[in-house]
Amino acid sequence: MIDPKEFLKAGQQLHGHKCPAMPLGLRAGAAAMNALVVARAKDKDLFAVVELGDDHCAHCFADGVQMITGCTFGKGNIRKAGYGKFGVTLVDRATGRSVRVVPLAKAQLGMKQTKFFLEYRMKGVPASKVPEDVVDPLIQQVMNAPQEQLLSIGPELKTEVEKKTESFGTTVCAICGEMVVDEYLRPSAAGKVCIPCSQKAV
Ligand SMILES: [Zn+2]
Ligand SMILES: [Zn+2]
Repeated sequence: MIDPKEFLKAGQQLHGHKCPAMPLGLRAGAAAMNALVVARAKDKDLFAVVELGDDHCAHCFADGVQMITGCTFGKGNIRKAGYGKFGVTLVDRATGRSVRVVPLAKAQLGMKQTKFFLEYRMKGVPASKVPEDVVDPLIQQVMNAPQEQLLSIGPELKTEVEKKTESFGTTVCAICGEMVVDEYLRPSAAGKVCIPCSQKAV
């Protein structure tokens, strides 16, 4: 069993400010991992799909998911579906077993009726400028809420897992002299070039 409390501090360091959405991502990620009985991904052993988009409230959630699951944009084993929703689906790549976890709407609506949102965030105050005595109780509420009052955990499903191999081939661009992964090279009169150089050459 993974304990989200052990990842709160590291999650806040990664994320940059204190807010309730990153901890909610920790809780959701932990619930999915514990449902599948899997450990944090060292390599790409897990794959996550978060349903968030961009430029809306609470996409901080994705940093909590990255922190706890080890599914990161750097390793490439997490993807945004762009639905503007808060569900996260976690896949165990070895077996294809997966589970979708969603924060309960009533728990999220309750959070929106707090000083943190009403008096600060919705008036345009950045999360880092909200006093600690306003945000800390909300974080504690998210971290300590009984799982069934915070999250809906879906049934275990089977997911088709793509087995992609990593590319190690690189070539130096004939124009800018910078290193390019081979699959991204484009042909040009000067030879094989990177995408920005190929666009400038036309
Ligand atoms: Zn945040
Ligand atoms: Zn180039």
